[in-house]
Amino acid sequence: MVEVYIGLGSNLENPAEQIKHARLSIANQAHISEVSFSSLYASPPMGPQDQPDYINAVMRINTDLSAIELLKVLQKIEIDFGRVRKSERWGARTLDLDLLLYADQQIELPDLTVPHIGLSERAFVLYPLQEIAPEELVVQGKGAIKQLVSLCPLNGLEKLD
Ligand code: ATP
Ligand code: MG
Ligand code: MG
Repeated sequence: MVEVYIGLGSNLENPAEQIKHARLSIANQAHISEVSFSSLYASPPMGPQDQPDYINAVMRINTDLSAIELLKVLQKIEIDFGRVRKSERWGARTLDLDLLLYADQQIELPDLTVPHIGLSERAFVLYPLQEIAPEELVVQGKGAIKQLVSLCPLNGLEKLD
């Protein structure tokens, strides 16, 4: 069993509901069990500004799927949730599921980079991750979670209750 963190994001069609349903959908997959789930956070969009704010969260799971198998599962769920892939990067979407950490592995494949490429700069990933990760968590190649959070301004991130 491997410990994995997934970043969830949505900014269309009732984002908070999308995130809650996505959580259930992930937890109900074969070979996946939920360990914990962060609070929901609201954040202004990254990239194109002419789109709604995001709701983000981080989920911790255990799995015996390989990283690539897990990515495929997550991409299938994105499609099930009506995600339409557009050419514009970081455009509005019903659901984004990013594989943040896969145990302490560093993975460089054509379709998969782990730890996730934006992890160490993104408040909407780091703050919810810190909420549910062990205090001593180290992001391979980037540093201790504590350190990363302390270097990352909130950038408008808001924890929801
Ligand atoms: P960003 O990756 O900067 O958060 P995004 O999530 O909007 O942007 P997507 O359109 O969801 O980007 O994914 C683009 C590609 O990123 C996917 O086709 C996928 O193969 C690749 N990818 C690479 N590493 C990862 C990862 N760790 N988790 C999810 N997708 C990844
Ligand atoms: Mg993303
Ligand atoms: Mg993505």
